[in-house]
Amino acid sequence: MESTNIKAFGTHAADAPLQQMGINRREITSKDIEIEILFCGVCHSDLHTARNDWGGTVYPAVPGHEIVGKVTRVGSEVSRLETGDFAAVGCLVDSCRECGSCRQDLEQYCLNGFTGTYNGKDKHSGGHTFGGYSEKIVVNEHFVLKVPPNLDLAATAPLLCAGITTWSPLRHWKVGKGSKVAVIGLGGLGHMAIKLAKGLGAEVALFSRTASKEKDALILGADAVIISSDKTQMASVRGKFDLIIDTVPYIHDVNPYVATLNIGGTLVIVGYLGGLDPILNTVPMIMGRKSVAGSVIGGIAETQELLDFCGQFNIVSEIEIIKIQDINEAYERMLKSDVRYRFVIDMASLKK
Ligand code: NAP
Ligand code: ZN
Ligand code: ZN
Repeated sequence: MESTNIKAFGTHAADAPLQQMGINRREITSKDIEIEILFCGVCHSDLHTARNDWGGTVYPAVPGHEIVGKVTRVGSEVSRLETGDFAAVGCLVDSCRECGSCRQDLEQYCLNGFTGTYNGKDKHSGGHTFGGYSEKIVVNEHFVLKVPPNLDLAATAPLLCAGITTWSPLRHWKVGKGSKVAVIGLGGLGHMAIKLAKGLGAEVALFSRTASKEKDALILGADAVIISSDKTQMASVRGKFDLIIDTVPYIHDVNPYVATLNIGGTLVIVGYLGGLDPILNTVPMIMGRKSVAGSVIGGIAETQELLDFCGQFNIVSEIEIIKIQDINEAYERMLKSDVRYRFVIDMASLKK
């Protein structure tokens, strides 16, 4: 299949830094859109993948799934976007489009497996997909989103993963006026969860490990901050929340948070993947009809709904713009929770 070699930033091994490399992008098919990438957000999943935290990373790995750019070419059958339009790509670039999930606009739960924007099985090349730390990307139009014209492009990029990953559970559990929502962890996902829950009219609290982010959380819209290491503060919110969104990336004790759920409440894990330790105690769940659930990103229609909602209410991410050459340092800072609250790469730096 015809392809073009382009510049990208990625890694050849779990313990190697990211560096400039060449990758191939396919020639557009009749249903494809080619996008020049202008900005790409830096998600903690990029780091997990680059360092093979979850196993299964195929190298070379080129992360990046919070992509905003400009349409440079469209295939002959493309109708949704035109050359020159601003466009976005999130965590999915393909799915079977035929299974029960896909037919319900739940491509993220495709029964035949969705194709991730990076480290996914590429149906076109037979290899694996490369993400947004690159000059351009070629994607089937179904998986390309429209960017509301009033939003800042760089600050829109994180909506494509951090935004949709928190929006999807907020919508699924029908959060609105009168809902009491809590968010665990103030990072990329956490700060979007606060803004979006607030935008939907909920009362929102943040659970954070230290008081260092308290002021920021209140500015972002949180009504309260609970320091999770403080037992008195934890006890003060016992039985309070209808929905808790847990964004913590690493193994942690979920039980103290279950205690803060209201009867019938749900704690939805979007961060940590794997077995829990300490184990989950079912007693408070059974005695309070509480649920512990999980959720992954969101479907394409739901992502467009989020972008349109953000356009309407002028909601974007709080960002720090970096050059692609600073990505390794950005990963180290992310590990120390030293990011306020999403790094976004100015992809013009890759051209230098
Ligand atoms: P992030 O920006 O690094 O934020 C994570 C936050 O969690 C930190 O700011 C910190 O908040 C808290 N935290 C970090 N380490 C912790 C620890 N050991 N114990 C307790 N709290 C800790 O990461 P992110 O980009 O928001 O991503 C969060 C997680 O979601 C990652 O694992 C990522 O892979 C995953 N993710 C999942 C999906 C999905 O579809 N389910 C999509 C995107 C990302 P405080 O300092 O406030 O405590
Ligand atoms: Zn992500
Ligand atoms: Zn499917």
